[in-house]
Amino acid sequence: MRAEPTWTEIHSLDAFPLLDIFAAYQAGLIVDDPFEDTGQPLSNDTGQRLPTLHECYTRYICPSLMAAFGQMGSVVNDLQQIRFKPLEDGPDAKAHTIDAGDGTAPTIAMNWQGRPADLLCLAHETGHALQSLLSDHGPMPPTARETCAFLAELMVLDHVRIIDPTLFANLHDVWVEENLIYLGSDLDSLSAALQNQTTPSQYRHNYPLARLAAVAMFQSAEATAIFTSGVDGLGHLPLDALADKAGKIDNTLPAMPTSLGGQSVHDAYRVLGATVLLDVQAWSGTAAQPIDQYYADMLAHTSDRTASLSIGPDRKPIGYTAWDRSGQLTRLVAPFGNHARIATSAKRHMTAEQAA
Ligand SMILES: [Zn+2]
Repeated sequence: MRAEPTWTEIHSLDAFPLLDIFAAYQAGLIVDDPFEDTGQPLSNDTGQRLPTLHECYTRYICPSLMAAFGQMGSVVNDLQQIRFKPLEDGPDAKAHTIDAGDGTAPTIAMNWQGRPADLLCLAHETGHALQSLLSDHGPMPPTARETCAFLAELMVLDHVRIIDPTLFANLHDVWVEENLIYLGSDLDSLSAALQNQTTPSQYRHNYPLARLAAVAMFQSAEATAIFTSGVDGLGHLPLDALADKAGKIDNTLPAMPTSLGGQSVHDAYRVLGATVLLDVQAWSGTAAQPIDQYYADMLAHTSDRTASLSIGPDRKPIGYTAWDRSGQLTRLVAPFGNHARIATSAKRHMTAEQAA
């Protein structure tokens, strides 16, 4: 028995629509930067130093969130309750927010060096603190919590854009740079866990979906409503709308010849070629393996009959799956979406092979 729950178990979510969301993102159909087209100059003052944490909290964070939350009565009072303290642990300690529960004020633990990145970190942690207060200290699924924190960052960016364009340019650089991790290595790690479906959840798995959802929700009514939603937080994320974008991914791969399906060497090479093209299309980590290792791996799957290529109605390859000898899915590559359909056809294939 597995002791640690997977990320999908913690969130009661189905893996396949999420893999479709990430496929759509990697195809460039989902935005990760709402300020991309605002025509703001790039930062030319990367060494900018800001005043103290408290001064920045008063000058930038509070007015930004008050502007975003508008009429929500308790927000002004809630923002005044939040406390701060420096991190006590070693140099690797990460900023975090401590909520001791009902009747207490959340405390943000972070170190302050006055860099633009520190201000965005303060915005993030204030998002966590505010979400605790607005949800009456009730629990919230971790990905919904991180969505609130990213929304708070976007609210601060949006306000600073008007009042201090130079600072905005520096904060925006930080947002873009952090996307490289949240939507790079973190997304790769979560995608692998979603394909495998037995990998225990890691905290960083909460970031990729939260990041994309926050950008999609920003400037909609959901952006503030989610802060008050507690255990129901995930219901505010536009998961279906994001997954639907996968339907718009262009399949530019060549169609497979009709002879495919026989046992010839040509067919075997065509299948291998199609998996390479699919991996490259999916930006999959698998495609970055050395070619001899990739070839040996896929050849073993082909001779074991533990892989299956899916072909669309126009005979273009749309995805492939591979599984281990125990029947556990080990790879699900579907760069054009349709993860659920491809997984179902793989399961049929697996059952047929086991019966054979
Ligand atoms: Zn966070």
